[in-house]
Amino acid sequence: PKTVITREYPADWKRGDEPYYPINDAKNNAMFAKYQEEAAKNDKVIFCGRLADYKYYDMHVVIERALEVVEKEFSK
Ligand SMILES: Cc1cc2nc3c(=O)[nH]c(=O)nc-3n(C[C@H](O)[C@H](O)[C@H](O)COP(=O)(O)OP(=O)(O)OC[C@H]3O[C@@H](n4cnc5c(N)ncnc54)[C@H](O)[C@@H]3O)c2cc1C
Repeated sequence: PKTVITREYPADWKRGDEPYYPINDAKNNAMFAKYQEEAAKNDKVIFCGRLADYKYYDMHVVIERALEVVEKEFSK
């Protein structure tokens, strides 16, 4: 019986806030490459998703990515 209106506002990130989004600058991408090197040594964990790929994903993209990873894993 009621209408709810929500509004979203952009805000600059500051320390202490939840770090929602990857920032793919040169420094962070270089650090991510090091994490990837470490992850590649571990064959017990499948790394996938926003944090593991250090990429911005919307829901449909992250689901597509998960399906790709599963397909690759099961075709071994
Ligand atoms: C504010 C905001 C708004 C968004 N709006 C939209 C939208 O309107 N439409 C849209 O399509 N997408 C939207 N997204 C994007 C969508 O939420 C993501 O694409 C999706 O949730 C990514 O899924 P994921 O599995 O990669 O990561 P996540 O959903 O972040 O899942 C990662 C999980 O791993 C857990 N985790 C982390 N570290 C560890 C650890 N060490 N051990 C165990 N568990 C751990 C976390 O608690 C979390 O549950 C939005 C994202 C944000 C942040």
